Amino acid sequence: MRPTLADIHAAANRIRGVADATPLVPSANLSDLAGAEGLLKLESMQPIGAFKLRGALNAVAGLEGAAGVTCCSTGNHGRGVAFAARQKRMRAVICMSRLVPQAKVDGIRALGAEVRIVGNSQDDAQAEAERLEAQEGLAQISPFDDPLVVAGQGTIGLEIMAARPDIGTLLVPLSGGGLAAGVALAAKAIKPSVRVIGISMDRGAAMYQSLRAGHPVAVTEVPSLADSLGGGIGLNNRLTFGMCRDLLDDIVLVTEAEIYRAMQAVYHNDRLIAEGACVVGIAALQAGKLDGKLADGPVATIITGRNPDMGLFTRVVTGQDVQLGDVTVKGERHGA
Ligand SMILES: *Cc1c(COP(=O)(O)O)cnc(C)c1O
Repeated sequence: MRPTLADIHAAANRIRGVADATPLVPSANLSDLAGAEGLLKLESMQPIGAFKLRGALNAVAGLEGAAGVTCCSTGNHGRGVAFAARQKRMRAVICMSRLVPQAKVDGIRALGAEVRIVGNSQDDAQAEAERLEAQEGLAQISPFDDPLVVAGQGTIGLEIMAARPDIGTLLVPLSGGGLAAGVALAAKAIKPSVRVIGISMDRGAAMYQSLRAGHPVAVTEVPSLADSLGGGIGLNNRLTFGMCRDLLDDIVLVTEAEIYRAMQAVYHNDRLIAEGACVVGIAALQAGKLDGKLADGPVATIITGRNPDMGLFTRVVTGQDVQLGDVTVKGERHGA
């Protein structure tokens, strides 16, 4: 059940030429914050604007002859599955909650997939994907809790370690844990001393709460600047809970105000359009929450996606207030 380094190499062969070889670029801002060489792995350069294409391509590759595919998604996984299904001329039905930004819904429709908007949480969307699996015979691809998806995301770890075997610490955005589990598995298989730290937003940090409880727990899903990190890990989690428990050295949580400041920093200093979900590592550094937690050597983080709601993004980078459900993040100009 648990993927191995060999599975990650096999995934790398399957996705080659479509979803691999994203740039690993130096960041003066990350270097300053980390007090060590700082590197950004630009998964935002993927054809769908997010790393999830890796796992989706790897999972869909094994579905020759299926009637079609379905999944629940906070947006980027659905886009990856839609892309992979279109390549195979396969039907794709993507289930999402009303919390998913319209830009992500539009991106999925543009790839020719059917979209179902159901309920207010990932759990509601997942129930619909399960119904489609049972009633219409579509193959369901979990956004994270699937060995092929974890192996696909793990190819990011292979690429980082191949480019820079001297990496000391990897800061990995953490939601369902497919990314963190895959990257940690690959990186530690290659270099056991590498430190891998998962970062989540403090409101609805499903993996963090579950690891603390010792078993998967449900969390309340609320609007967040890191919308791609929303949702639970599944009460019947089979894979990523155990892998994150065994492979992550630490998990750190950041607030919405910290994510806000990090989105500004990445935009103004690195000149990147990055979702709130991908700047959480930088947010943790800016907030001093990683003091004493970094290993010797370069620090790399993964810019996981570039698909924010652009209206919200513009408000953040221009220093305006943003409203997230009943929480207001006070506007603050970058560098003020
Ligand atoms: C899905 C996603 C993540 C988190 O990945 P998990 O495998 O669920 O932990 C982080 N950033 C972005 C942009 C995502 O789409």
